[in-house]
Amino acid sequence: MPYFCSCGTKYNKIMMTKGTLYKALLVASLFLGAVSCSKHLVNKGIGDKVSETIACERNTKQSDKYVVVLSMDGFRYDYQTLAQTPNLDQIDKEGLSGKFRPCYPSLTFPNHYSMATGLYPNNHGIVGNTFWLPNGERYKLGDRKSVENPKFYFGEPIWNVARKQGLCSASYFWVGSETAVGGLQPNIWKRYNPKDSFMSRADSVISWLNRPEDVRPHLIMWYLSEPDHSGHTYGPEAKETRASIEEVDAVVGHFRKELAKLPIAGQVDFILVSDHGMAQFDYNRSVNLADYIKEEDIKHIATGPFTHIYPKQGKEKVVYESLKNIPNAKAYYKEDLPERLHFGSSDRIGKIVVVADLGAVLFFEPNLQGTYRHLTAGHGFDNKEEQMQAVFKAVGPSFEAGRIVKDAIPNITLYPLICNILELKAPKNDADDKLAKSLLKK
Ligand SMILES: [Zn+2]
Repeated sequence: MPYFCSCGTKYNKIMMTKGTLYKALLVASLFLGAVSCSKHLVNKGIGDKVSETIACERNTKQSDKYVVVLSMDGFRYDYQTLAQTPNLDQIDKEGLSGKFRPCYPSLTFPNHYSMATGLYPNNHGIVGNTFWLPNGERYKLGDRKSVENPKFYFGEPIWNVARKQGLCSASYFWVGSETAVGGLQPNIWKRYNPKDSFMSRADSVISWLNRPEDVRPHLIMWYLSEPDHSGHTYGPEAKETRASIEEVDAVVGHFRKELAKLPIAGQVDFILVSDHGMAQFDYNRSVNLADYIKEEDIKHIATGPFTHIYPKQGKEKVVYESLKNIPNAKAYYKEDLPERLHFGSSDRIGKIVVVADLGAVLFFEPNLQGTYRHLTAGHGFDNKEEQMQAVFKAVGPSFEAGRIVKDAIPNITLYPLICNILELKAPKNDADDKLAKSLLKK
């Protein structure tokens, strides 16, 4: 089956010599929807449940530039001041540092996919960590079937932009990369597995940058789930969260140390981002929405600092009226949300959106009034809140040393920024190309 990849000849040879194991791997790779090269699947597939797939496509565009983007989930803009972060401090000296403003809602999935597509969540389809299609189908973080279903994802992810314009791309757990959006995925991608250690992820990225030039990805996006997890569990200012900040800093240090040994080190722009900040919950400001609305009036509800509700037909008004004057939050018909949120017209968003005041706790438990207590801190609040702001740093040949950008930069700017560095034509998006250009070295 040589049409599967450009190195088909070699592929057939391996198939003939090794038999069924490779057939099984091939079936697995097809099942995952990846156009894959058996050679690399064999290297990584055994004992790894084919968690990594590598397409054999080669770079066809001439470029001596590389971009590596690392997302540190939930790294609030000021976390560096709460811990010892020598490696991030060093990046500030050598590169540009600033703040990233998340899109609303300030949640993980919508924001990672906004950074990947340059689109607001309203426009790229991932409107929350949990939402329902008009036909009742549910998307939910953690539900592999929905997360890997391309129908939920709109827009053109940056890894596909690179591929279509002749550059290989790679992702290690970036939201949206585990499915073929518009029929295409990064050349290298992994199925989410939280057991992969942070250091091993850094080492994989280094190994990809060490591949032969013709198959070396020019764009790599990778992801760490900390300090978000610690922030939720212990609070943004807890010592455990400080330890996570320092752990992530050490991963960055390790990555940069290994990067410096590569011959292409001077050609790599390294961009660090996070998706949102973190705010302490105040359980004295808890609101059980079940005290205000009836379960039988609603079809679906997803709660949290960003709550959206899908009332049953004919019940929109009664649900809205019941929530109009609740404490510690503001309810809107989605189309009446403030313009600056760029959110509300998608048919995937519940008809009623409840925006919690910073720190307030919203939940819906008809039978357990007042007993809801899960997390110490959270996010998803209004994206203008200071504590929701995230981090943005960039170091490498395209960025000026020691430059500080004071105003928060909308995180969708990442998309045209990468396009400018890699000289890619950006598909239509919501970001400001002038702002992206202004971040680059003159
Ligand atoms: Zn997150």
